[in-house]
Amino acid sequence: MSIPKKVRVRFAPSPTGALHIGGVRTALYNYLFARQNGGDFILRIEDTDQGRYVPGAEDYIVRSLEWAGLSPDESPQKGGPCGPYRQSERMSIYKQYADELLEKGFAYYAFDTAEELDTKRKADPAFRYDASSRTSLRNSLSLSPEETQTLLNSGQNVVIRMKIDSGQTIHIRDEIRGDVSFQSEELDDKVILKGDGMPTYHLANIVDDHLMEISHVIRGEEWLPSTAHHVLLYRYFDWTAPVFAHLPLILKPTGQGKLSKRDGAIFGFPVFPLDWQAEDGLYKGFRETGFLPEAVINFLGLIGWSPGTDQEIFSKEDFVKDFSLERIHKAGARFDYDKAKWFNQHYIIHSQNEDLALLIQNDVEQKFGTSFTTEYISGVCGLMKERVHLHQEIWEKGYFFFTEISEHDLDTAKQKWNQETANHLHHISKMVQEDIESCETTIKLYIKEQNLKMGEILPLLRIAVSGKVQGPDLFGTIRLLGIQKVTDRISGLTDMLA
Ligand code: GLU
Repeated sequence: MSIPKKVRVRFAPSPTGALHIGGVRTALYNYLFARQNGGDFILRIEDTDQGRYVPGAEDYIVRSLEWAGLSPDESPQKGGPCGPYRQSERMSIYKQYADELLEKGFAYYAFDTAEELDTKRKADPAFRYDASSRTSLRNSLSLSPEETQTLLNSGQNVVIRMKIDSGQTIHIRDEIRGDVSFQSEELDDKVILKGDGMPTYHLANIVDDHLMEISHVIRGEEWLPSTAHHVLLYRYFDWTAPVFAHLPLILKPTGQGKLSKRDGAIFGFPVFPLDWQAEDGLYKGFRETGFLPEAVINFLGLIGWSPGTDQEIFSKEDFVKDFSLERIHKAGARFDYDKAKWFNQHYIIHSQNEDLALLIQNDVEQKFGTSFTTEYISGVCGLMKERVHLHQEIWEKGYFFFTEISEHDLDTAKQKWNQETANHLHHISKMVQEDIESCETTIKLYIKEQNLKMGEILPLLRIAVSGKVQGPDLFGTIRLLGIQKVTDRISGLTDMLA
């Protein structure tokens, strides 16, 4: 592939609901390609279908891209040299292009009502508005110029359709799929301008890609059939088409079928970047589930693209360096939630404790109804981060740092318990009071001197301070909890077992 002088790519979502995680991947690949080639990454909001417009969806898209670190260079919010970037604000532009196609004979007026077309479809499910059927339908090609003019003057329902002649082969050069071709008989005469003067996706999309000087169209595989229409439109206008690259689908974990928004509830994982409150309920986001954006980027980047090496950990900068359209797979790629959590664990472990603390501070204070210093929460993060996959597990599993222990593993404690161990614990409690900072050395020395085994005492001490035998580093936990809490908890356990 030869790269044109200036790479300009766009992410062009329709604000018809929350941005699916597959959309974030499309945005990511566009972003990477732009960055890699010193190009521009544009966000264009395709909101011409007012019937499907969902309030809040654009804001959600913008916030999601921001969270994922994929900020566009040009967008409705940022502006830019080719604005406006919201199609609803570009309405005056499209009509003239539809008129141009009418004049050139590549488009025509069609007067059939929705009911008429429905009746046709009912009578023949294979019905299509195309070269074979248009002569028997009500349009400016089948009617006389006078009849057409009368209908146009009457103000009755009229749309403009692109005219596709039969007998043509439309070749698409796709950077991922190679050469793809369609026969014009497979394509219908798509509406390009609707009765209310609104362009359809096809017209608005290619006019904007042209005017915004888009060099590469990188989008989901579901748009490949539309590309045949788009290639024809570029030909009709005598414009150079951009380079196309259609990304493979993200499949359900079972590998069967496309991952849908309902799969989140079915399989128990998020399929949206941020929480989305829809009419039929709340859809959980990756962010609110406890994911770091770096992990989501790493995970998504590798769904459908591989570096050709064993490397799995990719920062955004690593991706920018190594990414290539050529290494994107043709086949759909499975969504593997365990892998997403694995990446998240990696990024949590490698995060600064303070950054994690700032991230969870709000949740912690809300959950436990008390305020804690960032320093204290940082300490908890340092102790807990190796033991979690999601950042909220830091306070879920480490709740005993923030509130009283709700459940002690008394079964295990009882096995280790006798009068002697009770005395030892009492002694240990005193050592903590004397010098908590060096308690690890003094307690271990004490256990040795008393000819005890670590396994006779330390599990009890763990159960006393955290409720469980398994948990974060014991002495780190003791130091963080502080003298008062530790001594109270030791005597609390002693009381429970006495
Ligand atoms: N508006 C289309 C969408 O919602 C854009 C498809 C394209 O990128 O051309 O995905």
